[in-house]
Amino acid sequence: MTKNKSKAKVTVYIAVAALLAILTAAALFTLPITAASGLKRIPVLTYHRIMARPRPNYRVPTVPPSVFERQMAYLARHGYRTISPDQLVAYYQGRASLPEKPVLITFDDGWVDNYTTAFPILKKFGYQATVFLVAGKIGTGQLLNWEQIREMSGYGITFGAHTMTHPHLTSLEAGPAAREIAESKATIEAHLGRPVDFFAYPYGDGAFNEEIRGLVQKAGFKAAFASSLGLVTTFRDPLALRRILITDHSWLSWLEFATMVR
Ligand SMILES: [Zn+2]
Repeated sequence: MTKNKSKAKVTVYIAVAALLAILTAAALFTLPITAASGLKRIPVLTYHRIMARPRPNYRVPTVPPSVFERQMAYLARHGYRTISPDQLVAYYQGRASLPEKPVLITFDDGWVDNYTTAFPILKKFGYQATVFLVAGKIGTGQLLNWEQIREMSGYGITFGAHTMTHPHLTSLEAGPAAREIAESKATIEAHLGRPVDFFAYPYGDGAFNEEIRGLVQKAGFKAAFASSLGLVTTFRDPLALRRILITDHSWLSWLEFATMVR
């Protein structure tokens, strides 16, 4: 009896939480494509792994290949064109225009499935993307190696920095934090022979503070992406750009995706 009651309670909580999430997503994303400032609202999507989820409690946000392909098809069908972070910066600095419906697709960490699975799908749609690499771990575990990175770079995929070892930056002393940030930039630049202008803070909320933000600026990055939910609508702080985390294949995230990109 008690068990059934608590089960019912949990179901109600889940239903309420789902409803709130839908309403939040709808409130955030069913907005005009152009903001009051006259500037476009640009959705920046954050993916991590594109593969079948290995186990229910796997902690890295994972989107199955078939869902990723459907999401790309959805974007294409709705007239979205992918842009690079360079284009985003140039637009907000008034130096360039953008396609009518721009979207920036990003991948964090540099998982090998970004090459084996996501890359062919992106190519199929003529889409570009940006991958933020953990520069001290390239070619280890299930992460991309330099050969794959170079091939993707040759196609037009942008590579950004995501520290050397993926620490919680705010829990480090200033010296080690500065090295994590600056060395990741230098390492990728040395291997690719091109500037690395963009950074993504590891982890979600609380991933950076004023001090860390200052170190990213000092390292010479043009812009940095956070995980805070939302669309890029202004360029007031280029070192704290918002993104939208695409988590998994639940019906809820699919709905959020659809409400965001109409
Ligand atoms: Zn990460």
